[in-house]
Amino acid sequence: MSNDRALRHIAQGRGKGVQVPLKKRNRQEDQGLYEENAYDANAPQGEEYPQEWQEENPEQAGWNQDGYAAPPQEPAPYAEAGQDAAGYAPWAENAAGQHFAPNIVDSAWLGEDLPLEEEKPPKRTIFKPRTRKPSFFLAVIVNSMRMLLLLVLLLSLSGIGAVMGVANAYMETAPTLDLAAIDDQAQTSFIYDANGNLITEYKGSENRIMVSIDTIPKMLQYAFVAVEDARFYTHNGIDVKRIIGAFVTNFVSGTQQGGSTITQQLIKNTLLSSEQSYKRKIQEAYLAMKLETQYTKDQILQAYLNTIYLGEDYYGVKVAAYNYFGKDNLSDLSIRECAMLAGMTNNPYYYNPRRNFYTRQSDTTDYRKITNDRTDYVLRCMYENQFITQEQYRAALSPSSASVLEKSPASTALYPYAHYVEYAIRDAVKILLEKNGLPDTSANRSKMENRLRTGGYHVYLALDTQIQTIVENTLQTYKDYPALRDPSDKVYRARNADGTYDEIIQPQAAAVVLDYHTGEVKAIVGSRTAPTKRKTLNRAADMNMPVGSAIKPIAVYAPAIELGAGAGSVLYNLPLPVKGWKGSDGKTDTWPKNYGGSSYRGPETVRTAITHSDNTAAAYALMNYVGVERSADFLLRLGVSENHINKTPFGLALGSSGISPIEMAVAFGVLANGGVYQSPVTVLGMADSSKKIIYDAHKSQTRRQVFKPATAYLTVDMMKDVVSSGTGTAAKLSGQTVAGKTGTNSDQKGVFFAGITGYYVGTVWIGHDNYKALSSKTTGGNSAAKLWKAFMQPIHKGLDNKAILEGSPESYGLVKVTTCKVSGQLATDACRHDVMGRGTSTDYWPRDQVPTTQCQMHIAVNVCSDSNMLAGSYCPSVETKGAVVLPLGHPLYEYIGSSYSGVLTDYLGPFADLRMTTDGNVNAALLQSRTCPYHSSSSYYSAQSSLYQSDAQNLLDRARSQLAAMSPGHPAYANLQSAIDYLANVLNSGASDSTLTAAMSNLTAAMAAAR
Ligand SMILES: [Zn+2]
Ligand SMILES: [Zn+2]
Repeated sequence: MSNDRALRHIAQGRGKGVQVPLKKRNRQEDQGLYEENAYDANAPQGEEYPQEWQEENPEQAGWNQDGYAAPPQEPAPYAEAGQDAAGYAPWAENAAGQHFAPNIVDSAWLGEDLPLEEEKPPKRTIFKPRTRKPSFFLAVIVNSMRMLLLLVLLLSLSGIGAVMGVANAYMETAPTLDLAAIDDQAQTSFIYDANGNLITEYKGSENRIMVSIDTIPKMLQYAFVAVEDARFYTHNGIDVKRIIGAFVTNFVSGTQQGGSTITQQLIKNTLLSSEQSYKRKIQEAYLAMKLETQYTKDQILQAYLNTIYLGEDYYGVKVAAYNYFGKDNLSDLSIRECAMLAGMTNNPYYYNPRRNFYTRQSDTTDYRKITNDRTDYVLRCMYENQFITQEQYRAALSPSSASVLEKSPASTALYPYAHYVEYAIRDAVKILLEKNGLPDTSANRSKMENRLRTGGYHVYLALDTQIQTIVENTLQTYKDYPALRDPSDKVYRARNADGTYDEIIQPQAAAVVLDYHTGEVKAIVGSRTAPTKRKTLNRAADMNMPVGSAIKPIAVYAPAIELGAGAGSVLYNLPLPVKGWKGSDGKTDTWPKNYGGSSYRGPETVRTAITHSDNTAAAYALMNYVGVERSADFLLRLGVSENHINKTPFGLALGSSGISPIEMAVAFGVLANGGVYQSPVTVLGMADSSKKIIYDAHKSQTRRQVFKPATAYLTVDMMKDVVSSGTGTAAKLSGQTVAGKTGTNSDQKGVFFAGITGYYVGTVWIGHDNYKALSSKTTGGNSAAKLWKAFMQPIHKGLDNKAILEGSPESYGLVKVTTCKVSGQLATDACRHDVMGRGTSTDYWPRDQVPTTQCQMHIAVNVCSDSNMLAGSYCPSVETKGAVVLPLGHPLYEYIGSSYSGVLTDYLGPFADLRMTTDGNVNAALLQSRTCPYHSSSSYYSAQSSLYQSDAQNLLDRARSQLAAMSPGHPAYANLQSAIDYLANVLNSGASDSTLTAAMSNLTAAMAAAR
C-alpha cells in the first residue's frame, strides 16, 4: 500500500525491468511539493538505463568499452575507431526532456522578469495536463474519481490482511539497520606498495569523501530538502501525503512518479539491493521509519548527502562540489551552485552541468538550458519553502552565479602505476569473492569491487615501485622499437567527447617482472604510454598475443625432460614429415620450417635445438616425447588459463597459443623455482578498516610441483645457452647469469622474450595491437631480448651475480652421460667414429632417465677414407667407422625407400636408407651396394706424390676427429667442415701437389681457428 511503484506495476501489469545498480540510478521521482501538478513522466522512464550512461561509465561495462577485445586464439583485428560514437539513444533524451512545473498559481507575485519554465506537451499522459487555475468543482470530481479508482484497486488485491501478513514477513527479513554501516560503506580504501608506502586511495568509481553535517552549509542542505523532500523535517520516514499523491498520479496518468523521502532514498541507495519488488519497497519504507526512530534528522541528512550519486563518478556533495565547481570548501558554494547539485539528484546523467555546458554541442538546442531550468526550479522550491529570501532567490537566478568547470581539477589524476594497481584490484576482488564464498560471476565481481571501494580496506601490494618505474620508463622512452612493415597500420580509438580519435602508438609493448622465489609480481606494464584513465587495455594481462618459440621450454622441452628425455636426447631436425603434424589440408603429415627456411641440422640434441630455436626439432620433440594432451596439461599446471592454450601441435610447439606476459612470467618462474608453481601474488595482504588482517597471500598461496627439480635445473641450464650463444645473446646482462628464450611469431607478427636471472623472471612482448607484421628483420632475439635487457640491466644495478638455481647439477639428481648424437643412446666406438662426423654428446640427464641401451644405429663398417662408403678392394685408405643404419621400429625407418630416402642419406650417411634385416647375408649384400665408387680399379691415377697423400690423409684424420669432438653449434664448426671437405676432394681428384698442399694449409688454419 505504501509502495506506489509496486502498485503501479500491478496496475500496468509490468514485469521486472533490466536491473542496474541503484547507486547509479537515484532517479528520485521529483514530486516534492507539486506532485499533483507534475503531469508528465519523470524520465528517463522504465528500467532501461540510457545507453549514453554506459558510454560515460565505461568501467561499469568492462574494460573493453574502448573497443578492445581479447584476441581469439587466431588473432583477429581489433575493432577500430568509431565504435561508440553513435551510441546515443535519442529516446532517452526526449523522454527526459520534461520539466517540473511547480504548482504556482501565478507568476505575477514574482515579478515579470522572472523566467518561468516552459512546458513541453506531455508525452504519455492519458489525461491532459492541468491548467494553472483548475476549477474547484472539477478538482473535487477528479479527486473523487481518483480515490474511487484507488479503492477499486485495493479491493482487487487479495485482501488487506494478506498484504499486511506478507509485509510483516518482509520486515522481519529486512537488513539490519545501522547508520554506522552506511558511513562505513562509504569509506575509501587504501592501497600500499611492497614497502608499505601509500600508493593511492582507492575510491573506484565511487569517488566519495565523507563530511560532517557541520561543514555542509545550510543552503546546500536546504536545496536538497526543498526539491527532494520538503516535509523532511516533519515526517517520520515516509510521507503519506506524498505517497498517496504520487500513487494517484501514477495510476491515472500511467506515468511513473516516486513518493520516496530522503530517508527512504538513503535506505534504498545504501542498504537494499537493486531488486525491484514489493518486498524491497516495503522493506524500504519500514527501514526508513525505523531509521527515523534511531537517528536524528541531521544524522540522516548527513548520511544522505555523503552518499548521493551526483554524476560522473562522484558520490556525495563534497566530491561533486570539488569536481564541478573546484570548491574544496563547501561553504564557498553559491546558492545557485547548491541548487544545481540538488537538482541533479533526480537524473544525474541528464542534468550533469559539465555535460550540458561543455560536452554537448548543437546549433539548434541550448543544452545549458536543461541544467539551468532545473536549477531555477530548485531555487523556486527553496524560496517557496522559505529557505531563501526573495532577494537571495533573485540573485541566484542569475546563471553567472554558478561557474561550472569545463574539466574537473582532479580529472587527470589517475593513480600511479595504474596497470599494476588495476590488475591487483582484480586480484583483491577475487580474494573478496573467495572470502564471501561467492561464485566468480560478473555480478558478484562488481559487488565485491564496490565493497572494495567503499569498505575502507587496506590493500598491500607486492608492487616494487622502483622496478615498476624502471620498466614503465623504459617502455615509454625506448628508442629502438622495431618498425611496422606497413607504416599505415595505424590504430585509433574513439576517446574524446568532441568526436576526435587518439592514435595509439604502434608497435605496442608490455612487460612483467616477477620474483619467482616468492611468486610476487614486482612490475606490470601494459602499454608504451601511461594510462590516462581507468580500465584501459593492459597488454600484460588482457592481450593474449601468440608468444612464438618462447613457448618451447614450457610446452615442449621441460615436459620432454620430465617425461624421460635428457639434454643429449636426439631430435631429428630434418626436412621430413613429423607424425601428427598436419599440413594445411589437415590430413597429410608435414613439418614446420625453421626460421629463415634453412638450418636443418640433421640429428641434434635437445640442447642444440633449444639454443637455436629450431622449429622442426621442437615439432619432433612435441609429437614424439610429449604429445599434445600432455603438453597442454603442463601449461595448465603452470598456471596458463585454459582458453589461452591453442591445443594443437602448432599452438604448443611453435607458440601460436596466446599466453599473456603475466602468465609467461609465472610459468618461467616455475622453472627458475625448481619446478614448483606458486600462484602469482600482487596482493600481499589485506586488512579491514580497523586494520585487522583479513588476508595473507603467502598463507593461502597455491603451490604445486609441476616439474622435478632435475627437469627445472636442466631446462634452465639449457636456456643459459640460448643467451650465451644462441638466439638470445642480446639479453646478456653484465655481471649476471641469464637464461631465457626468444619468440618470433610467423610473419613477424609480434616478438617475445622471457628471461630469468638469479633474482627475477622478466617477460616482454612487442607487437601490433591488431596483429599486423613488424618489419621483416624483426626477431625476438634482436628486438624483444634487447628491450628486456634495457629494463633488466638497471633493475640489477648493484646486485651480485647469483645462480638461478643454487647447488650443483648433481645435487639436483643430474648426471653427465656420453651418448650418441644420432641415436641418443649410450655411445659406442662406432658412434665416436660416425661417418658423418656427428660423434657424441656428453651432457646432463636426470639420474633415473639415463639411457641403458648402447647405440642401436651405428654399426662398425670398413669404409674408404675418401668416400666414407664401404671400402672396396682398390681403396687406398680404409678405416673402421660407424655407419648409421636404421633399426626396425625407428621413427625414421618408414622413410626408407620413400621419396625422402635422399634426406636420410644426406643427413645420416650412405647406409641410412638400407632396409636391414636379421639375415647377415642379406645385410652384407645390402652394404655391398654402397661400395666406394671412387676407387673401382687399380689404375687409379694420381698426380700427387704419395708422400703428400699420406700427410694429407693424416691431417684429414686429425681434422675429422677434432670436428667430431665439436658441437655443431660451434662458430668455427662449419668452416672446419668445409676445409675438410675441400681437402678430401682435392685428395680424391688427384690434383697437383701444389693444390694439395694449399688445401692442407687451409685446413691447418681452420683447425687452429676451431680450437
Ligand atoms: Zn650411435
Ligand atoms: Zn674408396
